[in-house]
Amino acid sequence: MARTHEVFNQPVPLADVNLFASNRPLRAALATWMPTLDTAPLHAAGAEFGSAAMQAHARLANTHPPVLHTHSRQGERIDEVEFHPSYHALLGSALRHGLHGAPWAGGPGAHVQRAAAFMLFTEAEPSVLCPVSMSYAVTPALRDHPALHAALGARLASTAYDARFLPIAQKTSLTMGMGMTEKQGGSDVRANTTRAVFEDVDPWGRRYALTGHKWFFSAPMCDAFLVLAQTDAGLSCFFLPRWRPDGERNAIHIQRLKDKLGNHANASSEVEFHGAQAWLVGEEGRGIAQILQMGALTRLDCALGTAGLMRQALSLALHHCAQRMAFGKPLITQPLMQNVLADLALESEAATVLALRLAVAMDRSEHTDSAHEKTLRRLLTPVAKFWVCKRGSHFAQEAMECLGGNGYVEEGGQGVMARIYREMPLNSIWEGAGNIMALDLLRAFRGKDGGADVAAALEHEFAAARGRHAAFDALAASVLQRADGVTDEAQARRLARDTALALQAALLRRSAPGFVFEAFCDTRLARASDVYGLLPTHHDLGALIARAMPTTTETA
Ligand SMILES: Cc1cc2nc3c(=O)[nH]c(=O)nc-3n(C[C@H](O)[C@H](O)[C@H](O)COP(=O)(O)OP(=O)(O)OC[C@H]3O[C@@H](n4cnc5c(N)ncnc54)[C@H](O)[C@@H]3O)c2cc1C
Repeated sequence: MARTHEVFNQPVPLADVNLFASNRPLRAALATWMPTLDTAPLHAAGAEFGSAAMQAHARLANTHPPVLHTHSRQGERIDEVEFHPSYHALLGSALRHGLHGAPWAGGPGAHVQRAAAFMLFTEAEPSVLCPVSMSYAVTPALRDHPALHAALGARLASTAYDARFLPIAQKTSLTMGMGMTEKQGGSDVRANTTRAVFEDVDPWGRRYALTGHKWFFSAPMCDAFLVLAQTDAGLSCFFLPRWRPDGERNAIHIQRLKDKLGNHANASSEVEFHGAQAWLVGEEGRGIAQILQMGALTRLDCALGTAGLMRQALSLALHHCAQRMAFGKPLITQPLMQNVLADLALESEAATVLALRLAVAMDRSEHTDSAHEKTLRRLLTPVAKFWVCKRGSHFAQEAMECLGGNGYVEEGGQGVMARIYREMPLNSIWEGAGNIMALDLLRAFRGKDGGADVAAALEHEFAAARGRHAAFDALAASVLQRADGVTDEAQARRLARDTALALQAALLRRSAPGFVFEAFCDTRLARASDVYGLLPTHHDLGALIARAMPTTTETA
C-alpha cells in the first residue's frame, strides 16, 4: 500500500474529563449562591457524564434513532417506540443521578444541585433529557391532585429506571410527558380542539374520554402525560396514562415520529386520541394555568440545557485550539483567536450564572416564603429562557468555527460540534418560543402592582454591581424605568435583552473576578456585541481563557 503522508497536528479527543471539577465558572457560581452545598454528588456526576463510555452511548443513541412500531406482526395496534440500548443507558444514568423528580423529596438546595447536574449531563447528551425534564417539571401541577400525587409521586422520584412498557401499577419508577401543541396552534393553545367528555368518577377522580390529536408529543414512551383538552367549561388539564387501570392499552395512537433537525435520540411523535381515558387535574376550564406550572420548570431546563451546551462547545473549542498549530504556534496563542475564545468564555459564564440564579430562585421559592425570590423566579423564567437560548445557535456556530473544517464534519456521529449545533435552536423554540417569552416578561412587568414588585426585585439584584461600571449603571436605570408601565409589545425583545444583560452583569459581579465583569460590561453593555472577538485591547484575554479552560485545578 502506498504511503503518501503522515497524519499529524490533530488534537486528541476531549474525554474522561470530570465535567464538574473542570468547570470553574459553575463551581464559583455555586460557591456564591449555595456555599453549604455538598458538591460530592456533582463530582461523581461530573466524572460519569464526562466519561468516554457516556460519549460512546451518546453517539450510538443519536446514530440509531428511535423506531416506531404502530402494529404487531399480527396486526394489533401496539404504539411502541423502540430505542437503542444506549438511549436506555443514558436515561438510566440521568435518573440514577436524580435529574427527574428526585429534588421534590429533597431539602433546601436540592433543586440547585439538580440544576447543576442537569447542566453537566447536557454536555454528555441533551436529547434524552426531554423526558427527564418533563418528569421533573410535572410535580407542582400534579400536587393539585392529591390522589394522583400520592399514587405517583414517590415513583417519579425513584432513581431506579424502569424501562418496561407496563401499566403504572406494575412499574417501579415512572416518567411523564406533556401534550399541548396541536396542528392549528402551539403558542396559542386556546385554539386546542381535542374534546374531553365526562365519563365517571373513580379512585383517580373525574374520568373523561379524550378525542382529538397532539401535533408534537415528545417521549411518547413515558408512562403518562399531562395534556390539554376542551370541556364545556373551557380548556382543562388532564392526566393521560399510556395504560388504563384495567390493564388495557389506552387509546393513544402514535401516527408517526417527527423527522427533526437534531435531537435525534429523543422520539417526538404525532398522536391521536380515540376516546382515551384521562383524569381531570385542577379545575375545569383552568387548564392553561394548571399545565403552565409544568411549563415554567421545563423553561428553566431550556436555559440550563443551553448553558450546558455552550459550556461543552467552549470546552471543545479551547481544547482543540490548545493543541492545534497554525502558522508556527498553537491557535490558542494567536491574538485574534484568543479574542474569540475569551469572548465565548464570557458568554458561557454569563449564561451559566443567569440559568443557575433562576434555579436558586426556584429552590428558594419552594423552601421559603421569600416574596423577592418568587418575583425573581417569575421574571427570570422568561428572561433566561429567551436570552440564553436565543444566544445558543450563534455561540455554537462560532465555537464550531474554532475547529475549522473538522468542526463541520459528522463522521458517523463523532462530530460532536455538529450535534451541538443542530440541538441549539430547539431550546429556543419549544416550551414557548422567543417572542412568547418576551411577551411573558412584558406581562410580568405590568404585574399586579403595576410593576412596583418587579422594580424592587430588580433593584435588589442590581445592587451588587451599582457604581462599578458606567454602562451597567445606565442600563440598570433604563430597565428599572421600564418597570413603570411598559406596554409596547413591539419592544418586548428589547426589554428581555436589556433585562437579561443587566442581570448577567450583576451576577458576574458577584461570582466572577472583576476582569470578567469589566469585559462583559465593555463588550455587551457599552456597545452591542454583534460578532464574537471584539474585546478591546486592554482586556486580559489570557486570564479570561485560563478561567474557562476545562482543567481540573480546584482554584475557583
Ligand atoms: C422537537 C420538538 C418537540 C416538541 N415536543 C413537544 C411536546 O412534547 N409537547 C408539546 O406540547 N409541544 C411540543 N413541541 C411544540 C413546541 O412547544 C411548539 O412548536 C412551540 O410552542 C411553538 O408552537 P407552534 O409550533 O405552533 O408555532 P406558533 O405558535 O405558530 O408560533 C410561530 C412563531 O410565532 C411566534 N408568535 C406566536 N404568537 C405570537 C405573538 N402573539 N406575537 C409575536 N409572535 C408570536 C412564536 O414565537 C413563533 O416564533 C415540540 C416542538 C419541537 C420542535
